[in-house]
Amino acid sequence: MTERSTGARPVTGGCLCGAVRFECDEPPVMARACWCRVCQYLSSGNASINVALRTATFRVTGALGEYRSTADSGNRMRRRYCAACGTPLFSESDARPGLIVVRAGALDDPELGRPSGYIWTGSAPSWARIDPGLANCEGQPPPAASHR
Ligand SMILES: [Zn+2]
Ligand SMILES: [Zn+2]
Repeated sequence: MTERSTGARPVTGGCLCGAVRFECDEPPVMARACWCRVCQYLSSGNASINVALRTATFRVTGALGEYRSTADSGNRMRRRYCAACGTPLFSESDARPGLIVVRAGALDDPELGRPSGYIWTGSAPSWARIDPGLANCEGQPPPAASHR
């Protein structure tokens, strides 16, 4: 009775050393690039590419470390990474229950990370390359624009 779009397949990924693996039965809800200052720490000075998955069919195995902080948006965040190799993997926000954000570098298929737009471009350095053809928000987009 499940009705799926053709070609739907699980989203899979893991960390650099292979100790952590994850998968999700549903395709990503959205993908976008974030230039907030925190993401620059996590992405070696660049924007992070964040892919949102539904937690309902999301599974992860392996030992994770975590770091909790308050984001520029004011949302309380929980960020998790591989305890062995340190690869940034997930972030979750109190403001968006039901979704887990995966760092696109950890996906087995990086094509899934193609961003639909940029957020927090106001924090980007002057040399940042931001595609003018995509959606662009200087800060946190309004909640109405987010998927639930
Ligand atoms: Zn690892
Ligand atoms: Zn960010």
